Amino acid sequence: MDGSRFPEARAWVHDAIAKLEQEATRSADTHLLRLDFPGFPGIPFYLKDEASHPTGSLKHRLARSLFLYALCNGRLGRGQTVVDASSGSTAISEAWFARLLGLPFIAVMPACTAPQKIAAVQALGGICDLVEDPLTVHARAAEHASNGACHLDQFGLAERATDWRGNNNIAESILVQLRREPQPVPTWIVCGAGTGGTSATIGRYLRYRRLETRLCVAEPSGSAYAHGWRTRDRNAVASRPTLLEGIGRPRVEPGFLFDVVDAVIEVEDAASIAAALLLEDLLGVRYGGSSGTNFVACLQLAATMRECGQTGSIVMLLCDRGSRYQQTLFDPNWRDTHGIDVVPWKRSLANTLDSGLFAPPDLPA
Ligand SMILES: *Cc1c(COP(=O)(O)O)cnc(C)c1O
Repeated sequence: MDGSRFPEARAWVHDAIAKLEQEATRSADTHLLRLDFPGFPGIPFYLKDEASHPTGSLKHRLARSLFLYALCNGRLGRGQTVVDASSGSTAISEAWFARLLGLPFIAVMPACTAPQKIAAVQALGGICDLVEDPLTVHARAAEHASNGACHLDQFGLAERATDWRGNNNIAESILVQLRREPQPVPTWIVCGAGTGGTSATIGRYLRYRRLETRLCVAEPSGSAYAHGWRTRDRNAVASRPTLLEGIGRPRVEPGFLFDVVDAVIEVEDAASIAAALLLEDLLGVRYGGSSGTNFVACLQLAATMRECGQTGSIVMLLCDRGSRYQQTLFDPNWRDTHGIDVVPWKRSLANTLDSGLFAPPDLPA
């Protein structure tokens, strides 16, 4: 054993873990917002605002957990470069934590990632390694790791890096915040799936706490999880690409657990973007496309509950802010070039709030 080096290396790890704990102690929990709609009496909606983390998305929780996991597994030491493959939000949070620990950070990203996200990583001192083919990000990150970098590996490790039994994970946080509400045990919790870490954590926690709450994953139409979940096929691939970031994976990632998900609802990109715009009208804040996807799924679930004469609360995640997609999803010209018309969907979703009936608009062929 290298007795002279060992204590010094461990001392650095202990100091890094202390820094992560200090950061968690300085940070407040995210808000759980409530909305009630005339069309859904007895079915309150609760929105968990994960955009209010210091790095602007639900990936703040994940990045903190991934660094802690790497440190506690002895995989990360002083001065070591940290790398991960990310469509952006994770990279922003990881860059932020790398800076906190004084470590160099490389984000492997698809070249088509929203420019605002690339700028955010760079502003935090991270390096963006842009690849043309989104399917090659994993291999590229592994390449950096073989050169000595610590691969945080969000897609491989998200599901196990998070403490599923609590420790203020997102599921525990939601349930604590609901405790004084009239329906403190929600009928549904709705989230998206990118790494699958959030859905795995929520699904496990619901069982652990012996709750009847069901978990719904909201997916862009034709994405890999939607295909894979139905047939329990881990080799499923997306039949259509999506314009949304953070969700709608081209393949089934290892962290997505089929067995804890009770329903998968597929949502058209135009509906997701329209729903994000509708949320902006309702909340005065613009959230990203995946928040819109979740909202559409909630409205669909609520309409079914109403039809069956069922009441109960529905919780969904607000994943990140819309400002990250100003030049993409929220630019009308960009939408035109991608053949997206949000107007019919926005009208029909707004009607749903009043009528309690969910119906897709009749889109022109
Ligand atoms: C990552 C991400 C998700 C999905 O969360 P996972 O825990 O990775 O499955 C949803 N929305 C946004 C904006 C994301 O960045």
